[in-house]
Amino acid sequence: LVSRESKGKHSMVRVKNVNIGGNDLTVIAGPCAVESREQLLAAARRVRRSGARVLRGGAFKPRTSPYSFQGLEEEGLKILAEASEETGLVTVTEIIDEASLELALKYVDMVQVGARNMQNFQLLRQVGRSGKPVLLKRGLSSTIEEWLMAAEYIVSEGNENVVLCERGIRTFESATRNTLDLSAVPLVKGLSHLPVIVDPSHATGMQRLVAPMARAAVAAGADGLIVEVHPDPCRALCDGPQSLTPEDFDSLMSEIRTVAAAV
Ligand code: PEP
Ligand code: MN
Repeated sequence: LVSRESKGKHSMVRVKNVNIGGNDLTVIAGPCAVESREQLLAAARRVRRSGARVLRGGAFKPRTSPYSFQGLEEEGLKILAEASEETGLVTVTEIIDEASLELALKYVDMVQVGARNMQNFQLLRQVGRSGKPVLLKRGLSSTIEEWLMAAEYIVSEGNENVVLCERGIRTFESATRNTLDLSAVPLVKGLSHLPVIVDPSHATGMQRLVAPMARAAVAAGADGLIVEVHPDPCRALCDGPQSLTPEDFDSLMSEIRTVAAAV
């Protein structure tokens, strides 16, 4: 169902009034985690002003350590809904199990299945049955085939609104958080009709590599980007080292507009 031949053309996913996979580049931006009302609203206002169309923010954080900040849960979802109301941005948040999915369905416009849950087949089926637009991240060590099969689980439940996200994979290289597999973009666009976006933040783990990889992703034909932006990265509770300041995000947006116009 997700193959290119099954459709014959590329599909577009609609998240309320925002299209992903059309002719325009769609940028999703916001902090790794919702930390407070003030933090999220500040981020939302700034990314909107710079041209982002979708606001991101984690309320359920799948952290490596059980002692790290785990997210504000339902409180965080309420803050996302409020930020959406105020700015008009549509929202995406990660869900990690059935309970968080049920809650997220009430408050946000799109749900994210994170890299760690890409092969949580029960969760994929539940997300499929929900009908909600889904951002499906590539697993930490998943092949393209495994990633597309994960998408197939969602679509086979009747939910065609799937956007794929390349976010770097685990390799022997330890200088960066992950290794961005940019060839996945044109490759997957040849194999599947689903839109493909790139996450240069988790792919690199380093603030100064985000802009170059974002430009490269656009040049490679990505339908959009998801970028971590924090009003004060030094004080972020999660992923500060890879988060852009609102000023840097604003510059990035003008750079990628130039690249997009050239491809
Ligand atoms: C995230 O988007 O904050 C996240 C945890 O991403 P990933 O699942 O790609 O690690
Ligand atoms: Mn993050």
